[in-house]
Amino acid sequence: MHLTEFTIIYEYLSRLVCQRDDVNVGIGDDAAIVTVPENYELVITMDTIVEGVHFFPDTCPSHIAYKALAVNLSDLAAMGATPAYFTLSLTLPHSDQRWIEKFCEGLAPIIIDQQIQLIGGDITQGPLSITIQAHGYIEKNKAIRRNGAKPGDIIFVTGALGISALAVQLLENKLTLNTTDHYERVMNRFYRPPYRVGVGHALRGIASAMIDISDGLAADLNNILIQSRIGASIYTKRLPISPDVTLAMSQEDAILLALSGGEDYELCFTLPPHRVGHLQHLTFDTPITMIGEISNEHGLRCINSVGHDLSLRRLGYEHFEG
Ligand code: ADP
Ligand code: MG
Repeated sequence: MHLTEFTIIYEYLSRLVCQRDDVNVGIGDDAAIVTVPENYELVITMDTIVEGVHFFPDTCPSHIAYKALAVNLSDLAAMGATPAYFTLSLTLPHSDQRWIEKFCEGLAPIIIDQQIQLIGGDITQGPLSITIQAHGYIEKNKAIRRNGAKPGDIIFVTGALGISALAVQLLENKLTLNTTDHYERVMNRFYRPPYRVGVGHALRGIASAMIDISDGLAADLNNILIQSRIGASIYTKRLPISPDVTLAMSQEDAILLALSGGEDYELCFTLPPHRVGHLQHLTFDTPITMIGEISNEHGLRCINSVGHDLSLRRLGYEHFEG
């Protein structure tokens, strides 16, 4: 069934709303109005996803919605911020009721989990694309930036790596898996990436730099290196490669996927050595793995299990090499 813009907004999107005290005016006026708590800063991030570029045509709308919101929260998490509200711009080829219902189903669990409010947005007609702008709070000057890593700092990542890149290979029919269980696990992780808000919180005042892994560990860690004007060594034998990845390919291929595969949405962060002990006193809902250290020497070195440098040039990352 075809829906009007009015129906989409007031029968579907408005009903998703969790009412927050700091939202003075939400959906329904010309613009939203919010109150930022005293001594806090507003942290703002935005991501657009386009059909055929960021997701395959005919992807279930609930997956699209979940991922669009989760990746924004991952950016807030990587700053140490607490998500508060978001806006949503939908460009739809047609306004299909079933599509909107499914889309809302994808947003709902994260809205409830994080108590974030949809406060406004826009709807236009055109090729399918979704933009979400998420807003969060952080105490003044407490945000964890990309530019704070220092030589000697230890590098960590959360969770497991490589699984989303494996999912892309499956969707592109470059690889098949032996069991449906395995396939379901990989796809579920791809469509429902983590947003490590709790980890981000725990690391405020402790981590010297942090980034979320959207383009692949090597590429994103390299962003910390550039902004912090330092270099790093990481060790392939330490990488927390997802068991679902090692099950599907050779160890060598799995390492390349863990280094260069995008969309894991894990956090990569650095800690000064004297603060590494703090980790023991924190509880995380995911494993944390030490993968290397920051050095004076510029560029990213990736050292394999026999102590040789892995050529990142082979991965197409020649700009990493100093
Ligand atoms: P305007 O013409 O002033 O842009 P709209 O009719 O587009 O107003 O929107 C009416 C209200 O609905 C506004 O408060 C707007 O923020 C909200 N809105 C529109 N599209 C969305 C959307 N995709 N998600 C959430 N709120 C939306
Ligand atoms: Mg409008």
